[in-house]
Amino acid sequence: MTSRTAAAAARATVYGYPRQGPDRELKKAVESYWKGRVTAAELQATAAQIRAGNWRLLAGAGIDEVPTGDFSYYDHVLDTNVMVGAIPARHRDAVEASALDGYFAMARGTQDVAPLEMTKWFDTNYHYLVPELGPDTVFAADSAKQVAELGEALALGLAPRPALVGPVTYLLLAKPAPGVSAAFDPLTLLDRLLPVYAEVLADLRAAGAAWVQLDEPALVQDRTPAELNAAARAYRDLGARTDRPKLLVASYFDRLGDALPVLAKAPVEGLGLDFTGAAAANLDAVAAAGGLSGKRLVAGVVDGRNIWANDLGKSLGALGTLLGLADRVDVAASCSLLHVPLDSAAERDIDPQILRWLAFARQKTGEIVTLTKGLTRGTGAIAAELAANRAVLASRAHSPITHDPAVRARAAAVTEADARRSQPYAERSAAQRALLGLPLLPTTTIGSFPQTAELRTARADLRAGRIDTAGYEERVKAEICEVISFQEEAGLDVLVHGEAERSDMVQYFAEQLTGYLATRHGWVQSYGTRHVRPPILAGDISRPEPMTVRWTTYARSLTSRPVKGMLTGPVTMLAWSFVRDDQPQADTARQVALALRDEVDDLEAAGTSVIQVDEPALRETLPLRAADRPAYLAWATEAFRLTTGGVRPDTQIHTHMCYAEFGDVVQAIDDLDADVISLEAARSHMQVARELAAHGYPREAGPGVYDIHSPRVPSVEEAAGLLRTGLKAIPAERLWVNPDCGLKTRGWPETRASLENLVAAARTVRAEL
Ligand code: GLN
Ligand code: ZN
Repeated sequence: MTSRTAAAAARATVYGYPRQGPDRELKKAVESYWKGRVTAAELQATAAQIRAGNWRLLAGAGIDEVPTGDFSYYDHVLDTNVMVGAIPARHRDAVEASALDGYFAMARGTQDVAPLEMTKWFDTNYHYLVPELGPDTVFAADSAKQVAELGEALALGLAPRPALVGPVTYLLLAKPAPGVSAAFDPLTLLDRLLPVYAEVLADLRAAGAAWVQLDEPALVQDRTPAELNAAARAYRDLGARTDRPKLLVASYFDRLGDALPVLAKAPVEGLGLDFTGAAAANLDAVAAAGGLSGKRLVAGVVDGRNIWANDLGKSLGALGTLLGLADRVDVAASCSLLHVPLDSAAERDIDPQILRWLAFARQKTGEIVTLTKGLTRGTGAIAAELAANRAVLASRAHSPITHDPAVRARAAAVTEADARRSQPYAERSAAQRALLGLPLLPTTTIGSFPQTAELRTARADLRAGRIDTAGYEERVKAEICEVISFQEEAGLDVLVHGEAERSDMVQYFAEQLTGYLATRHGWVQSYGTRHVRPPILAGDISRPEPMTVRWTTYARSLTSRPVKGMLTGPVTMLAWSFVRDDQPQADTARQVALALRDEVDDLEAAGTSVIQVDEPALRETLPLRAADRPAYLAWATEAFRLTTGGVRPDTQIHTHMCYAEFGDVVQAIDDLDADVISLEAARSHMQVARELAAHGYPREAGPGVYDIHSPRVPSVEEAAGLLRTGLKAIPAERLWVNPDCGLKTRGWPETRASLENLVAAARTVRAEL
């Protein structure tokens, strides 16, 4: 690429950086603050140190423009609530008494007041707190946090760019406050909100901001003409203000589609676009729109939410094309680096050859700087980096890890019939009834039982070498014994072994599958102070040995009742891992499905006649754009059916999903062809049962009658009442009785009492039939 057109130096930037600190200092400080062990001032000092550390690191690596305001004690959407003064009525006293404690009260609730609801940030595994708005919401600008953090970065002599959640996305993420009609549309508050944003922008300009970034990821979803009009109005309004910094409207996670012309026409100085994955369609769209003349384009060419080394040559190609289409092109990650771990160099256990394939936040920063240099000075200036990158990509492309001929041959040979049970449900159900001999309204649980302190100690002891594997397994067995005998006493019909051996339902399997990598320090914020370490689907997947059979077999040896085998499904394995980007997800899902299929078949061969394959992530992985959903659902349901399709007709396949709103995937749930599905329903009062019935769902279902998200024990009458409601939608021959989800986060006392009540409720309602 010749770089003549790039005479104006490109700038390197990012939209945000992980907030946790190098050793998760923020998590520790916040949790200590909650326990009263550190003061607010100490917490604030830790936070300031982390921010300064991040900025120095970014600037030191060559990032020209650093983000500010992306830091958060808990969540950036909650910070936005504070910035616009949208404090729910029930939290106002707490916020007035202490801004910090009130902030945490909104995030986590207190004894007396409920927190804001939490939900997933687009299709990532980050969770934000949902703003609650109503016709009476009064906004008021509070720019203190943004202005203070901008000041800190300026004081370090840096070029900061405050990052804010944009007004349209903020409203689109909000929901009607409690007591407000569900028909209320928060977007109707736009005209009230814009002056508040304008005031914050003016404050930031007065404080020294040249540019401010407004994040509008909601515009990469399918939007109605009214919503697109609102976006146009918002930026026409903000753009027309004179006392403002330059505006960069950033979008990410997908292509802008119909929102692209809207933003291209808006009187803002810059647009940030994602050019990775499906969002690469933005490239043609920008060209088709005749470019973004007069605007600064921040090109997100480095994938901000996956962990693979960038293809620098390919990115330079895209950047070169973009140079002709905008006034000025700068280089960034596609989204905030919040979604990736900090530094792959910390992973001492990963083979150095493979480690080179990975790029965490720090390595991505380096890639952005290299690309910026290449864009400004030409490829000659980064010849060494390009050569090294080509070698890394070649090593990954040709590695035996990414190309296992046996796995590939098996996946290629899969036929339609492999992904189908040998008999239709009607025949299977008769065979299963005969084999299992269960009563009407059979009772069961979702799989996990309370993860006790003893279990956590046992795991810690094993890691620290205080006990050996055999000693650890003895403790797990003791736990299984206890779980089985409790379930027998309580009178449950289909038992579980309790999942004592798993600390995490994805990690446990990832560790035993070939082709998966685990990280030691790869923490990513899930919500608040909770972080997860997603494993990495790095190569072709196979299962060298059975993973769960001995635990289930041991549990079965302790009882004459059926014990469910328990597996995590292929879609959820992908959803909660970093996924390969060198082949379609459908191919990766198929490999994982085949490995799990072996486990299902081995469980059956060992005598397990009920096997549950959990897919709690089926719905959350739904692509943001409706046009992409059929293809996703096709491979997702195929992967599930491939996992479960090899069993005999009399082996009963269960699945479990934990969400109450599943209208958009009810057909896919049907397509899984599982014999029994358990679903969350207690909090939605059996709405799920009605939706299943309305769809004509033909198989068995267990809408939860015990809300495991709360320590509350449901009474027999309450559970029986829910069952009676369930029976109005699902006939007794097809209705199961179970909790909403697994019990691993619950304590034993409430678990015991709740399950006893659940069994009593089933008996009561059975007697009425
Ligand atoms: N079987 C798992 C459990 O009981 C299911 C967890 C989930 O749905 N997320 O914990
Ligand atoms: Zn669940």
